Amino acid sequence: MAGLSWEPVIGLEIHVQLKTRTKMFCACEVAYFDTPNSHTCPVCLAHPGALPVANAKAIEYTVKLGLALGCEIAPRALFHRKNYFYPDLPKGYQISQYDVPLCGKGAFTVPEPEGDRVVGITRAHLEEDAAKNVHVGGTGGRIGGAAHTNVDFNRGGTPLVEIVTEPDLRSSDEAKRFLQLLRRTIVELGISDAEMEKGTLRVDANVSVRERGETGYRTRAELKNMNSFNFIARGIDAEIERQIGVWEGGGEVVQQTFDFDAATGKLTPRRAKEEADDYRYFPEPDLVPVEPSAELVERARAELPELPGTRVRRLEPELGFDLAEGLVASGRDRLFARTPGDRRAVANVLMNELAGAGVDPDAVDGDELGKLIEARNRVPRPVFADAIARSGDEGFSADPFLAEEATSDVAELGPLIDEILAANAGQVAAYRSGKEGLLGFFVGQVMKRTDGKADPRVVNELLRAKLSA
Ligand SMILES: [Zn+2]
Repeated sequence: MAGLSWEPVIGLEIHVQLKTRTKMFCACEVAYFDTPNSHTCPVCLAHPGALPVANAKAIEYTVKLGLALGCEIAPRALFHRKNYFYPDLPKGYQISQYDVPLCGKGAFTVPEPEGDRVVGITRAHLEEDAAKNVHVGGTGGRIGGAAHTNVDFNRGGTPLVEIVTEPDLRSSDEAKRFLQLLRRTIVELGISDAEMEKGTLRVDANVSVRERGETGYRTRAELKNMNSFNFIARGIDAEIERQIGVWEGGGEVVQQTFDFDAATGKLTPRRAKEEADDYRYFPEPDLVPVEPSAELVERARAELPELPGTRVRRLEPELGFDLAEGLVASGRDRLFARTPGDRRAVANVLMNELAGAGVDPDAVDGDELGKLIEARNRVPRPVFADAIARSGDEGFSADPFLAEEATSDVAELGPLIDEILAANAGQVAAYRSGKEGLLGFFVGQVMKRTDGKADPRVVNELLRAKLSA
């Protein structure tokens, strides 16, 4: 990828939809997957004379997030009007924050295999989400290809936090790591589900490159529409490569916005007029300044959980970096902590089998999982896999499950083995005349008839006994 002499410079802009019960400036319920336009009122539809009132819960959530990001919390923050015209914005402006955001400068530490990357946070501010344009008919896709566009105002006015980082990230991997840990932090704070597929977490990336040793920044491009962490990493890599090509070809990178197409891996430039950014901000006259009380800030600070980055470092000595990071980023480290047994074996089962089975780690009883893992080498693979898949079920208990699933009962296996031996008289004779390698053939037959659930040790013992009889 990036040649030795080039250094990528990456900054991120992250939008997080807060999971408050009501919208940012009115009492409408946040429920935008309901019937379109079923959660609207004069405020979020911008009827003349309707007055906004700021959602206290959203302010509290943003303070929590700001503290987790190490930000200074402004004692007095302002709302501004950000003016632009688009059908999903009925007021003709978005209420956002401008020069006095609720959360000012901060820093978020991302553990890397070699040392930490401290990512500066420029700001985190509170705003309202736009409504949703639904392009209908025609060839679909963006407005250009659709016959017409419907607007669903359910989403309009949903509380949204925008987090802006400094251009401190130096590779697509670092950006992905940062985002995974940030997402984990947001989920654990309980302020958002932060799911990219649902649009409750959205990420734009600003990418430029410079020669190593250079201190200034070169012109950057903005990447939008990347709806998974892997796509973000791929989009960033594609853009880094493109820019290096431009510079090395004697050209100059120009400021541009691209949409990343996950299907083709290609970057498509947006039309220039979509980038107009003269928003003519001015203070929102209908809202008082946000003044979070010292008591609110201190309570939020006291409630902060141990941050994911800290937990990665705590687990690293016993597990190594990759396992430690994997457990924390996937939210499985709490289950890891309450599951007894060999630490590495437990970590591996959590990251592979449990993850593969799609089991919610928070639903799993650590003690029962510990028993399963302890029995792992004694029970047939399919039985272990079944047990893992069921380990999140309510009331799951390892011992009875294994006892019931694994066929180790001699009374049950004995007649089956007799049957198999009778049906394969030729192989039995060959075995008895010295071809002991045929034992595997008989074991295979038993496994086939029991769907792999027979206890291999018991099967082996029984077979040897019966064949030597
Ligand atoms: Zn409303």
